[in-house]
Amino acid sequence: MGQLSFEEDCLVRELDSRYYGFLDLSKSKNSEIKSLVQQTVANFQNYIANGQAHEMKNALDNKNVIQKYDPSNVVVEHMENTSSQNDEDTKILDKETNEKNFICDEKPQDEQYVNALCKLGHLHLLLGEYSEALSAYQKYLRFRENNYWTNHAFIYGIGVAYFKLRCFKWAIKSFQELLYLSPNFTCANEVHLRLGLMLKHCGEFHIALKHLQLSLLYTYPSTFSELQVKFQIAHLYEVQNKHKAAKDGYEFLLNEKNISLELKADVYRQLGWMYHCVECLGEKKEREANALNFLQKSIEAEPKSGQSLYLLGRCYAGINKVHDAFLAYRNSVEKSEGNADTWCSIGVLYQQQNQPTDALQAYICAVQLDKDHKAAWTNLGILYESCGQLRDAYACYLNATKQISFQKSSLLRRKQAIRMKKDTIGLSKGLSQRITFLEGQLSQAPLPSITSKRRTLCSIEEAWNLPISLEMNSRQQQTAQMLPRQNTKQSPIQGPPPPYPHSQLSQSPIPAKRIKEDGSGQPDLMQNNIQTSSQHQNLINISETLSQRNFNTMPESNKISEQSVLDTFDDISNDIYKHNETIKLERLSQDALSNNLNEDSRHNKYNGGSTSDLSTTFKIQMDSKQLMAAVKLLPIDEPPVHCTILQVNAPPPSPPDCPPQKLTRDQLLPPTPSVHLENKKNAFSPQLQEFCLKHPIAVVRGLAGALKLDLGLFSTKTLVEANPDHSVEVRTQVHQSPDENWDTSQGKRVWACISHRSHTTIAKYAQYQASSFQDSLKLILPQDESDKGFPGSQAMSDSDSKDSVSNSNIVLKRKKHKINSKMLRFGTNVDLSDERKWKPQLTELQKLPAFARVISAANMLSHVGHVILGMNTVQLYMKVPGSRTPGHQENNNFCSININIGPGDCEWFAVPDAYWGGVHNLCEKNNISYLHGSWWPVLEDLYKENIPVYRFIQKPGDLVWVNAGCVHWVQSVGWCNNIAWNVGPLTARQYSLAIERYEWNKVQAFKSIVPMVHLSWNLARNIKVSDTKLFELIKMCLLQTLKNVLHIQEYVKSKGVEIRFNGRGKNEASHYCGQCEVEVFNVLFIKEQEKRHVVHCLSCALKLSPSLQGIVCLEEYRLSELQRVYDSFTLHRTQGLAYTQ
Ligand SMILES: [Zn+2]
Repeated sequence: MGQLSFEEDCLVRELDSRYYGFLDLSKSKNSEIKSLVQQTVANFQNYIANGQAHEMKNALDNKNVIQKYDPSNVVVEHMENTSSQNDEDTKILDKETNEKNFICDEKPQDEQYVNALCKLGHLHLLLGEYSEALSAYQKYLRFRENNYWTNHAFIYGIGVAYFKLRCFKWAIKSFQELLYLSPNFTCANEVHLRLGLMLKHCGEFHIALKHLQLSLLYTYPSTFSELQVKFQIAHLYEVQNKHKAAKDGYEFLLNEKNISLELKADVYRQLGWMYHCVECLGEKKEREANALNFLQKSIEAEPKSGQSLYLLGRCYAGINKVHDAFLAYRNSVEKSEGNADTWCSIGVLYQQQNQPTDALQAYICAVQLDKDHKAAWTNLGILYESCGQLRDAYACYLNATKQISFQKSSLLRRKQAIRMKKDTIGLSKGLSQRITFLEGQLSQAPLPSITSKRRTLCSIEEAWNLPISLEMNSRQQQTAQMLPRQNTKQSPIQGPPPPYPHSQLSQSPIPAKRIKEDGSGQPDLMQNNIQTSSQHQNLINISETLSQRNFNTMPESNKISEQSVLDTFDDISNDIYKHNETIKLERLSQDALSNNLNEDSRHNKYNGGSTSDLSTTFKIQMDSKQLMAAVKLLPIDEPPVHCTILQVNAPPPSPPDCPPQKLTRDQLLPPTPSVHLENKKNAFSPQLQEFCLKHPIAVVRGLAGALKLDLGLFSTKTLVEANPDHSVEVRTQVHQSPDENWDTSQGKRVWACISHRSHTTIAKYAQYQASSFQDSLKLILPQDESDKGFPGSQAMSDSDSKDSVSNSNIVLKRKKHKINSKMLRFGTNVDLSDERKWKPQLTELQKLPAFARVISAANMLSHVGHVILGMNTVQLYMKVPGSRTPGHQENNNFCSININIGPGDCEWFAVPDAYWGGVHNLCEKNNISYLHGSWWPVLEDLYKENIPVYRFIQKPGDLVWVNAGCVHWVQSVGWCNNIAWNVGPLTARQYSLAIERYEWNKVQAFKSIVPMVHLSWNLARNIKVSDTKLFELIKMCLLQTLKNVLHIQEYVKSKGVEIRFNGRGKNEASHYCGQCEVEVFNVLFIKEQEKRHVVHCLSCALKLSPSLQGIVCLEEYRLSELQRVYDSFTLHRTQGLAYTQ
């Protein structure tokens, strides 16, 4: 590739993924660069084509391949239909995946070849050729499996490509890894922003908010303006039904002077629609007036917005201004691309006007544009039913329901599935009733009699195939042309008819007796074949309720703005920021140049590449002087980042694969390890601790009896007498049988479980617990526990960010469930840490053997030096039957102790820690966050994935030992209280699982409530370790953190900032960054924010102030003290005790 001049070559050489969004090659002024880029791409392709021959030859010699971190398999599936071009790429990929995965020779030309793949990815990305970019990046990844994480521009590039191709799962994974590896990455604000948008889209609102807020911190240029990010934040509140916060956010934006017209239109649209939908925003009449006003303002600001026109139509329809509604819909259809929602609404309007033929045509338009449009199918069914065409109605209803069940891992599908779920709330039940009813009708009547009936509408088949009214048809065609761009998965407009369920009807007629059961109260359509007016009215009512419900419950605004936000993301970025382009380009050029030159040394600096000298320099055999000397050699032109406390050069942590060994059905249901204690001597025998440490989970039966523990101290009666006003957190849950978790609105088993948070007191919960028990004795099962009024329960706050349910669709179901299912209240996380309040109780627990005690020298958590509520202190749980602790691992994988106080039993489920990655993947499949969500595994799903589950009953007086990393979930069988806390045995296994989780939490932007660095330094001070493995792990953590501290100090000094010694108060809690919640050790960056002094990590401090001006830098320990601790922490070579104090 010698066709470019030297200067040209240099220019192109600088370009990489970081220019994406800032250098717009479609602009005419960049046409020269564009042709350079295209020429380079052509050169690279030639070069690679030649290289490929060589590669294939190698491939044939390397048959045995281990596949790890290989998204390509999945991606191939995702991408199948994205474009034909891509199809070809993926075919090649697919083939290659099977054939090769070898590590290439260390020959220089191979190195160059592999780097060319990455470069090609960058250039395709800049040209907006995303599938080509992804293809090149994936090929690169396959050569770089063992060190891809040192190439941050690559991870960013592949993340952007995934993002653009809407493979959000993979985009999220890439971006999370990138931030973990390099929080100071040039485009870190872009990464936070995109993560925020995607996580919002996936329903992970809490973490989405965190990322959006972090993206606002940066002073770097961004493709999104500050106001646009604030709009996203307001919208995030809106989709969580935090209406007040959303409204405030939107109104704040309207008061900003430099708001763009486009953004203004968005804000007005959202506000208008909120006024239309949200009852708490005022009286209906006033709201409707506001809604119309805001939507009109939105249209004024952005006359081309089809969405605002559509919503305006909906508002008019809502207040019966039919003519205006039609007008708005028409305008909307003209302005915006084919929108199934609009056609569906037009259909509703026609149907309400008693114009069935027009309604039919409109619905057909809707379902042809979007075959999965549930509302349109449902309405169409209702329309047919109202005209007595039951077979057609039945077909439509089936099409409407069919969509719910289909689920594929593809995100496109997933997105649709999420949307469908929203639609179905309140609909499915009515629908399934109608379907059952019609099945009955149709099976009873011979088919000919149906077809011979007076038909007012053409059949669904005819309607689908025949051209419909010219006007609608032409509109549809117009809009259809724009479709492929919007959604490549759309079907061709005049395709085959939707599946028509003949067979089901004729082959399995439903027995007549079921009709009577299910057709309860419904007028029999077949007998009254001439529709009476009242019956007709009845159907119209159904139609109205159904469609009304549908429209009211479906947060259409969310859907619309999500789509528009993601679709317009780049338009916005490119248009608004064109003026920044040149400035940005210069800035980036410099960076890029220097980075390119120092590419390797730069990465080695952070991670220690396997080939670098530096990586071997840092090892635990060094003393602190050698360490300091080595740090002095590290470059300080860029801030030190990524302090992993795992081993040097570790890849970013990710959930492990399950053990491959295929388990038999018996092995999938293993017996639970349990011991029965006869006496105190048993309880204190070392064998008991050994037994517990050996198994993933263990139940110690009869412990209370053996130790003569007075469990009565924890009975509800005693607790009320001791501290009646003590606070209790309450979880409101649906009562279900222990091995099942149903979503009643969808009529199927799910993983997501409902568990809303509120607060009460011990006395009030006790009253509830007692009355629930008495009710059961009277054998009067209350219809609905929750409606009886729970004493002292506060209104469920929607500002509760840790509300168990992260998906908006479930939030919406809240009301629904109150009506349908028996709700219960679980009193949880009652804090018993205060020794003054709970002295007798806490004293009683000192009777336990050391390994199970709350405080003990052998318990790592006792070395933290401060309280971590619920971990190194006792928590109490107050239960009625069915109270659920959803699935989880303990914080930072510590062990836990749980004693059932009784009188009732608890049922436990547990999965060994080695399988947690499998459980994590199943959560992901079920669209629920493993870390943040509330989930109750479907046992069959686990067995299918070869994941074993322990299941056992915990009786009063039994202690359950949950070993490190064990995944577990618990449900009470009877009325009972439990007490629980965490312990950390001083073993290598416990320590390594804790730090692994500590690092994975960083990737997931999840706070680790055990400050592992702080704890490790305390362990080094307090204990002597004779276990080699444990010693090495702790020493590695000390090494990595001391290295990081020294490096940060060098960097800060080079910026001319003074580090002031501050010291630590006695029992002072360890520090976390106020922005990103990562643990900050020894060097604290303090900035005053809203009159509070907030601690920051270095990365967040640099976001606020790249020069560190205005930031105070404090030191907690003297360097000499850390050196002393580091040097004197050595392997204790003695027989006997593993630790002493
Ligand atoms: Zn931070």
